[in-house]
Amino acid sequence: MAKEKKRRKLFGVDVIGHLEAEGTGVKYLFAPRMTLRYPEVCQDFGPNYRGMLKFYPDRCIGCTLCARICPSNAIKMYKVDAKKQPGITYQRCIFCGFCADICPVNALDMSDVHDVAYYGLSEQVQKPEESSKGPPAVERAKKVKSQLDEKRGIRYEPV
Ligand code: SF4
Ligand code: SF4
Repeated sequence: MAKEKKRRKLFGVDVIGHLEAEGTGVKYLFAPRMTLRYPEVCQDFGPNYRGMLKFYPDRCIGCTLCARICPSNAIKMYKVDAKKQPGITYQRCIFCGFCADICPVNALDMSDVHDVAYYGLSEQVQKPEESSKGPPAVERAKKVKSQLDEKRGIRYEPV
């Protein structure tokens, strides 16, 4: 903020700032594209990507820390065999990763799956047993093309 104030303005216009913005625009005219045509092209996810959660019930000690730290109230504790275990609601989850970070026994892990479609809202409320299955395995092709499909309307095939 202080740096911005020091800049000289010409007729009230921050000429340097304006030129910098122009330069950024020109640079990205020639630089590699940042935006991909998803789902035709899919990028590689880094090792710390925060996708859907997998729950490991055998590790869980029922401390409830995950439910307490969740900023969007997406974790509900269920009673399973006289123990408390978390279930996840994907209607609410914002994929912040706080629950996995705070878990003292690594009973929650984040996968690289982020693009699961559900038929209804109730399917997005997962009890511990469902959360322990993790997200469905997604076969991700680097490049796909769209095809018309009589039943589904559109489907994607690897190229
Ligand atoms: S990833 Fe964040 S929002 Fe989602 S369940 Fe965990 S703490 Fe809650
Ligand atoms: S998943 Fe981890 S943080 Fe959540 S109740 Fe179990 S042990 Fe505690």
